[in-house]
Amino acid sequence: MTTTDAHSDKPIVRALNVTKAFHSNEVLKGIDLDVHEGQVVCLLGPSGSGKTTFLRCINQLETIDGGRIWVDGDLMGYDDREGQLHRLTEKRIAEQRREIGMVFQRFNLFPHKTAVENVMEAPIHVKGVDKKTARAEALALLERVGLGDHCDHFPAQLSGGQQQRVAIARALAMKPKLMLFDEPTSALDPELVGEVLAVMRELARDGMTMVVVTHEMAFARGVADKVVFMDAGVVVESGDPRDVIDRPQHERTKSFLSRVH
Ligand code: ADP
Repeated sequence: MTTTDAHSDKPIVRALNVTKAFHSNEVLKGIDLDVHEGQVVCLLGPSGSGKTTFLRCINQLETIDGGRIWVDGDLMGYDDREGQLHRLTEKRIAEQRREIGMVFQRFNLFPHKTAVENVMEAPIHVKGVDKKTARAEALALLERVGLGDHCDHFPAQLSGGQQQRVAIARALAMKPKLMLFDEPTSALDPELVGEVLAVMRELARDGMTMVVVTHEMAFARGVADKVVFMDAGVVVESGDPRDVIDRPQHERTKSFLSRVH
């Protein structure tokens, strides 16, 4: 699949009635979401509405309290035997997480490794890929994010935008089925935001399935197949960005959009 208008009907993410609380704070109050292969879904909403928590639940950085999440047909975190849920072993959970790439607000690159070494790290140590192959693939990925000539730079020698592009290449190195982005541009100086969004746009065009928490409305409007507006742990409305962003139906969405536009 190479174009965004050729999405398959295969759900890569299916979340049903997901709930999560931190002590008495109910952060997710029954979230449903379907993301089909090749789709880009943007999660929008005010700070504290549960977007990051939901993203972290998808790849099991958080354990959900109720509901279910499947990624590419795999029930995340649990084995469903005759209607009884059994928690998977940590090893199995780690295997499930390997299929999902995640890019954070802060890039968290290894400071003592060069760009190419950062990208090679997981394929070698987690997947057992040989060093030569891992290096060749890492160089190709750095080329893809526009950093072919920065492969031997250390993080401190790169701008925030360049570091974030290395972080994207590093996530892609594991050949994920799904990429999760948690406000990937919000820690960047404004002039560096565009280069990161351009890489994400390119990835979307290449057919990567993506869930993106962002406040970048132009990106959501231009790239997302679907936007989901969350507030206080619920999905208030979701659908085509031209509907939700340009013709919001709910007061909460209208009020949020009037603040971020
Ligand atoms: P958003 O991404 O929409 O800004 P978050 O998912 O980050 O929202 O946060 C939703 C709520 O969950 C907030 O009230 C936040 O304080 C709380 N929260 C998030 N992570 C934790 C945690 N690890 N422990 C306790 N509370 C948390």
